[in-house]
Amino acid sequence: VVDARDLHRSFGSTEVIKGIDLQVRKGEVVCIIGPSGAGKSTLLRCLNGLETPTSGTIVVNGHHLGGRKTNIDKVREQIGMVFQHFNLFPNMSVCDNITLAPTLVAKIPKDKARANALRLLELVNMQEKVDAMPASLSGGQKQRVAIARALAMDPDIMLFDEATSALDPEMVGDVLAVIRRLAQQGMTMILVTHEMAFAREVATRVIFTDGGVIDEQGTPEQVFEHPQSERLQSFLSKVL
Ligand code: ATP
Ligand code: MG
Repeated sequence: VVDARDLHRSFGSTEVIKGIDLQVRKGEVVCIIGPSGAGKSTLLRCLNGLETPTSGTIVVNGHHLGGRKTNIDKVREQIGMVFQHFNLFPNMSVCDNITLAPTLVAKIPKDKARANALRLLELVNMQEKVDAMPASLSGGQKQRVAIARALAMDPDIMLFDEATSALDPEMVGDVLAVIRRLAQQGMTMILVTHEMAFAREVATRVIFTDGGVIDEQGTPEQVFEHPQSERLQSFLSKVL
């Protein structure tokens, strides 16, 4: 689904991604871990075209990002993204937040889009809030709506950038439960996360990034129980 090769990204004279190769196959759940400033968010943003790599190639579902014939909006429809700060539209109801793209972009009739929104809200256990306004929701509830909204275009892959790190601890479990359910349904996902226990549980592969490169990767067991590199060992000793 994703094939990124030799990615580099600089801001001014600082290179923050220094040659990353990342291939993700259908159904994989890839967790990216690493210290602050490692380039994790920048990497995710490159994958859905929010950021343009300085060099390297990215192919998503057979579409070359940045290719002259590629319609980036079409590619983005196949990628759902959830950020740390749930960017719901504050002046729209939960239902309108979810149906906006399907009705506007995919031209799905309103009643059909609403039925689909209800199905997605059920998946994230938020069906009662279909007509609520975002301001009346807790952080965890907003984040679950944001996930439902990202799913509304029926994406082939979901990207999560620290989807739980802005939440109060008691809300984290509800959001992780939704992500866990998506994993069980076979959704292809790339998650940047600080939740090591969760990464260990849901990931099919864990990638440790540091200083703009992939330092080590493997199964959760390899990365967490048998880390090879010193940098990974030292990172784990701080976060576990
Ligand atoms: P964190 O765990 O804190 O979220 P991260 O691994 O996601 O960190 P990035 O946000 O990708 O790290 O940032 C990597 C580096 O790139 C940082 O040093 C950051 O200051 C720099 N950077 C990111 N975006 C920009 C930008 N738009 N302009 C300049 N520098 C940037
Ligand atoms: Mg980040």
